[in-house]
Amino acid sequence: MTKSRPNILLIYTGGTIGMVKDFETGALRAFDFKNLLDRIPELKQLDCDIETFSFAEPIDSSNMNPKYWVEIAEIIESNYDAFDGFVVLHGSDTMSYTASALSFMLEHLAKPVVFTGSQLPIGDLRTDAKENLITSIHVASLQRYNKPVIKEVTLYFEYKLYRANRTTKINAEHFEAFASLNYPDLVTSGVHLKVNHDYLFKPNLKKSFKVHKVLDVNIALIKLFPGISEGVLQSIFNTPGLKGVVLETYGAGNCTTEQWFFDILKAAISKGIHIVNITQCSGGSVLMGQYQTSEQLKKMGVISGKDITSEAAICKLMYLLGQNVSAKVFKTIYETSLRGEMA
Ligand code: ASP
Repeated sequence: MTKSRPNILLIYTGGTIGMVKDFETGALRAFDFKNLLDRIPELKQLDCDIETFSFAEPIDSSNMNPKYWVEIAEIIESNYDAFDGFVVLHGSDTMSYTASALSFMLEHLAKPVVFTGSQLPIGDLRTDAKENLITSIHVASLQRYNKPVIKEVTLYFEYKLYRANRTTKINAEHFEAFASLNYPDLVTSGVHLKVNHDYLFKPNLKKSFKVHKVLDVNIALIKLFPGISEGVLQSIFNTPGLKGVVLETYGAGNCTTEQWFFDILKAAISKGIHIVNITQCSGGSVLMGQYQTSEQLKKMGVISGKDITSEAAICKLMYLLGQNVSAKVFKTIYETSLRGEMA
């Protein structure tokens, strides 16, 4: 049986990558993706077929929200059988959030979903867009025994493919804009594409692909700082309908030991609000109980976010709340790695 070339669906949601500069006025305008192959003839050298789909109104990723996440998930769902891989072009500002959310929403994914973007528009002389785009498509079309090599949601930027839910945008101007401090690169692009097979996510291929579309946004993200006031914290926890909070604590999950602070958390937990402890450090993990300053959190039932990123922590909370996971098992499920998002 001969297998035709892999076919890749390129989904353009917006962001700098899809912009071209009008050479006369200098203004940036959206690029017409229908003419992609004419504008980037290098793509014809790739051993795959490419089709494109664009949001009717491409957006700056600062305007991303869960409704658009569902839209992207539905585009992938309705094209899942027809394509071997998906490349999502997205603004870099909130790319780690969208890509993390999609990693939870797309369960038993057996094909690559590669998010990419760029710091400079595709029409710019010194653009990083072309390399990011070309290599993302290349990575999405990698096959072994006629099956995709990558079977998870990933993010490609500046010569590295990362597990998407391990990434954070770390730089607003360097081409190397993303980092994955707690998980190794999946692919490094040099003269050769080096795939780190041991680190790839291995989904259960016996289960069929499922798309989850309910996300609960009744959550908050609180970053502790020395001097945070009782009033501010109290008012956040008193938000009507609040169901979960991601708490960015210090170092290995430490916090102030002032009594008012613990009282607020205890009251919230007794009302059924889930509290997830993550570290505000870019790398490393929460280890509740290592210091006395986190012992109390452990005792009162705060969930350990271990080494999860803030972006993935937020998305996992929205996802599990949307799944109506029962209170009894919520902590256990949150503390379990579902898509390789935590150790
Ligand atoms: N503000 C843009 C966006 O996130 C920046 C970018 O595309 O990188 O949509």
